[in-house]
Amino acid sequence: MKRHTKIVATLGPASRDPIVLEALIRAGVDVVRLNFSHGAAEEHIALAALVRQIATKLGRPVGILADLQGPKIRVGKFENDKIYLETGDHFILDAKCELGNQERVGLDYKDLPNDVSEGNVLLLDDGRIVLEVDQVLGHEIYTTVRHGGELSNSKGINRQGGGLSAPALTPKDMDDIRTAAKINVDFLAVSFPKSAADMYMARQLMLASGGHALTIAKIERVEAVAALEEILDASDGLMVARGDLAVEVGDAAVPALQKRMILLAREKNKLAITATQMMESMILSPIPTRAEVSDVANAVLDGTDAVMLSAETAAGHYPVETVESMARICLEAEKSTLIKLDHEFLDRIFTRIDQTIAMAALFAAYHLNVKAIAALTSSGSTALWMSRLNWGIPIFALTQEPASLSKMTLYREVFPLLLKEEHLDREGMRYDAEQRLLEAGVVKKGDMIAISYGDKRGVSGCTNTLTIVRVGDQPPPHN
Ligand code: PGA
Ligand code: MN
Repeated sequence: MKRHTKIVATLGPASRDPIVLEALIRAGVDVVRLNFSHGAAEEHIALAALVRQIATKLGRPVGILADLQGPKIRVGKFENDKIYLETGDHFILDAKCELGNQERVGLDYKDLPNDVSEGNVLLLDDGRIVLEVDQVLGHEIYTTVRHGGELSNSKGINRQGGGLSAPALTPKDMDDIRTAAKINVDFLAVSFPKSAADMYMARQLMLASGGHALTIAKIERVEAVAALEEILDASDGLMVARGDLAVEVGDAAVPALQKRMILLAREKNKLAITATQMMESMILSPIPTRAEVSDVANAVLDGTDAVMLSAETAAGHYPVETVESMARICLEAEKSTLIKLDHEFLDRIFTRIDQTIAMAALFAAYHLNVKAIAALTSSGSTALWMSRLNWGIPIFALTQEPASLSKMTLYREVFPLLLKEEHLDREGMRYDAEQRLLEAGVVKKGDMIAISYGDKRGVSGCTNTLTIVRVGDQPPPHN
């Protein structure tokens, strides 16, 4: 049985060794995430090259996602790297402070004092430390510690309820977009977007730098939740970025938001990645907690395209075991996925020929008990449409475009395969598709398959034909 939900794994010190990286990919990583919050451009370039080298060796496409740091607001550094704040202490966030101490600390975003006011609650280090603003005097924010703890260098700051106005793309992000374009990454994740305009800007910058990545909006701000539809319209997908999102909207609001976001993404023919703390305890433990198993399984049941690992694979003690566990949980949860070909499907209106053929393939496959769908696709759109409404029939996306191949690594239920350009007539195309599925060992003689294709091979938007055949019944073409 093939796993239908995809796994995104963040690379870092625990996984950049070639042997570990190969083991991770063998264990089931479909897409690697390069986290631009850490590391220099050269490191990302070298790591991407290594990933591609291993993928070629294993004969398996692996997607690459570049994740921008974004305007995460952080405290500066301390004289002794860290301090301990007691509940009830007074503490100053000072935009002009160079090196922090027990009394005050600097800020990387110098305008923060203009954005906050008396009574605001500031959450540091993902909410582990809570400060309440007493007053703002010039460049200094005077606070009282409401919930103390250890505070170390460069920890993040969020405001409860959101609304901090740092621009979405920092100068560093713009440089990193150029690096991502140079690497030719498949996906570009934009951190902290507030509006569709932020996503347009990221896409424009990437296109101007020669990149062609799909754009992923990380939903981690209150404003982004409010503008979810327009942000999705301006993106190719979203990430349920539960780390920062929980701090901004309150942790208890996140599970319902996750369901809503995944559903909306699917409805709009967009992708969804569910991220952060999915297997958190496996940073230090070789087995997940019961709660983590449920969390991953529930994301699968929600219909996510992919589940993501962060520190678990970037800095954890058990990166390979974590991917193995995640793969196992996804497979089991998929046996009972609740997403079905439902009435909603029949109510939808399709006007495009290619989209209608994609839906017809699903409809036919459902009624005829088809083993697999073979979608000959140039851009990958046919496979994307099918996967938005599919209920578990594997979709083999056959393409001649290497760029489409690696992008489809993220699509749920889609298995990208490279198609050699052999036969260009209709019979030839159908025959090639069948042969490719046989070679991949995913069907056998006598299995029924549905094949979608267009009259012109390799031209995007031309899918206009659906054929249903039994494997072995098609005669080889003459030419
Ligand atoms: P991050 O984004 O890991 O870059 O912070 C994900 C999240 O906030 O959940
Ligand atoms: Mn985040």
